Amino acid sequence: MSQGQERRSEKLLPVALLGLGILLQLAGCSPPPDPVVCTHGTSNCTVTNTYGFFLCPAANVTYPRTEKELVAAVAAVAAVKRKVKVATKHSHSIPKLACPGGHDGTIISTARLNRTVRVDAEKRLMTVESGMLLRDLIEAAAAEGLSLPHSPYWSGLTIGGLLATGAHGSSLWGKGGAVHEYVVGLRIVTPAPASQGFAVVRELGAHHPDLDAAKVSIGVLGVISQVTLALQSLFKRSVTFVKRDDSDFADRVAMWGRLHEFGDMIWLPQQGKVVYRQDDRVDVSTPGDGLNDMFLFRANPTRATIAARAAEELLQENSTDTARCAAAQLQADTLERLAYGFTNDGASFTGYPVVGYQHRIQASGTCVDSPEDGLRSACGWDPWIPSSFNDNSGFSVALSKAPAFIADMQRLRDLNPAVFCAGVDPRIGVAFRYIKASSAYLGKAEDSIAIDIVYYRSHTAGMPRVHADVVDEIEQMALRKYDALPHWGKNRNIAFNGAISKYPKANEFLMVKDRYDPDGLFSSEWSDQVLGINGSPNITKEHCAIEGLCVCSKDSHCAPEQGYFCRPGKVYAKARVCSFGKDY
Ligand SMILES: Cc1cc2nc3c(=O)[nH]c(=O)nc-3n(C[C@H](O)[C@H](O)[C@H](O)COP(=O)(O)OP(=O)(O)OC[C@H]3O[C@@H](n4cnc5c(N)ncnc54)[C@H](O)[C@@H]3O)c2cc1C
Repeated sequence: MSQGQERRSEKLLPVALLGLGILLQLAGCSPPPDPVVCTHGTSNCTVTNTYGFFLCPAANVTYPRTEKELVAAVAAVAAVKRKVKVATKHSHSIPKLACPGGHDGTIISTARLNRTVRVDAEKRLMTVESGMLLRDLIEAAAAEGLSLPHSPYWSGLTIGGLLATGAHGSSLWGKGGAVHEYVVGLRIVTPAPASQGFAVVRELGAHHPDLDAAKVSIGVLGVISQVTLALQSLFKRSVTFVKRDDSDFADRVAMWGRLHEFGDMIWLPQQGKVVYRQDDRVDVSTPGDGLNDMFLFRANPTRATIAARAAEELLQENSTDTARCAAAQLQADTLERLAYGFTNDGASFTGYPVVGYQHRIQASGTCVDSPEDGLRSACGWDPWIPSSFNDNSGFSVALSKAPAFIADMQRLRDLNPAVFCAGVDPRIGVAFRYIKASSAYLGKAEDSIAIDIVYYRSHTAGMPRVHADVVDEIEQMALRKYDALPHWGKNRNIAFNGAISKYPKANEFLMVKDRYDPDGLFSSEWSDQVLGINGSPNITKEHCAIEGLCVCSKDSHCAPEQGYFCRPGKVYAKARVCSFGKDY
């Protein structure tokens, strides 16, 4: 091999490794670790999230198995006015929602509150404990001939956790894509005066006004013990992915969700394409036993995960846009060729449409439910191995403003499409899903489109990522120009600054919080900041804009020593982003 060929193949190695990372999948897998770890039994603990983004101290943890034990756990902290937070089996939220604050706080884990309480098949109602995983919930519903009509796409979440952050799938039909729209009752344990034993169970029925506070609560009202969901008869769906040119994307965004009950879209800005998910309910007699086992949520061999991350780091830190775009294209093409992990019969993909029962299509997450294999394989983001480490900006824009927002993003893309190859995770692109207006105080006030952008994050604090300015400009444009609302369970600090003022019913929420938890035991510094009670989530210091802790106002908030300076946005001139001097 000549020197030139050698150098070329070295440059293409990361590209090949990233493609290989998608292709290699195993049947076994180490499940994600418990987010709560203690050094002395159940004392002297820390809590983290599934990515290991934060590590907060806590004095102790309890694992109630029944509502009675849950009441006792809340009473124990309320009696001594100790801070407390709920942690779940895997703790998937990105912000520090699970941190009780200080060293003296308590964690109440819902990991053992994971049973079905009752099913009324005739009325299509199902009551479950709040720590039940979405995976188990949709399986249990299907076993009774029932379907949860909408859910997040990842099944490793708990019902209590996903409700707390307003999590959703995609739909504009009926009550829409957010799970909290299907909650018709819940039982929540809150602190109480000594005369009531320091804790009470509040039962909120479908018409109880406080249900609008409790069904999306970011965990500050108390511990949800049980949730009752209105389900539907088990149905089938027919899914086809259609890739099209993005020239009419801005016009189609409002229409697609009205045409297809479970429609969504993935925009690949660097390719000028949109992958439309054409996904509709079909008669149960329609043949097909399709399965959604998304590649990104399957177990990966640890060695492949490590190699893929190393390749990603190489592409970020020491490569060219040409190589980055080749890698992005390969990853997007590989996933498309493999139908994103959909199969027609649970084993192989033979062509669209994929028709299958709702519980086999609505969500997936095989990497959490496989037996322990000594970390030979794991979820692609497992914190115990040098795995994929990404940030996720997730925000929703009112549907009425979505066409203008998309047109602005396309203008930014047209300036230099290649920068999006590194700016945005090419496997996910920019994802668009639908949510309907909600009566939940912390839900969406208008029909909206939820947008997700996943992007590389360095393990080194303050290290810039390549072409970060495009995503940062889009994020600021969404939040400021288009009044976007951040997903409560995703995002970096800046997305939450001032967010609460965009919720018309925020005061109603805070009044319920004051009644349920007057001493703020379930509140933390973080929740007080995002709810506008005390302080701001923004942190201003050197490199803060690189970390998403602030919007830069001077160069030192970026990384001037590495050539990154604070500059106005290129399309949204009011944005302030860290741009690489030579690119700008
Ligand atoms: C791989 C992945 C895929 C995702 N996909 C989607 C998606 O498709 N759609 C979407 O909208 N979101 C998605 N998310 C985000 C996710 O839905 C939210 O972060 C969700 O809140 C996490 O649920 P959890 O069970 O892990 O809860 P946690 O993150 O552990 O908890 C979230 C909050 O809820 C509180 N809480 C938990 N249980 C209770 C309870 N019983 N009572 C009171 N408070 C409680 C916690 O204290 C915390 O404040 C995804 C996240 C990941 C990591």
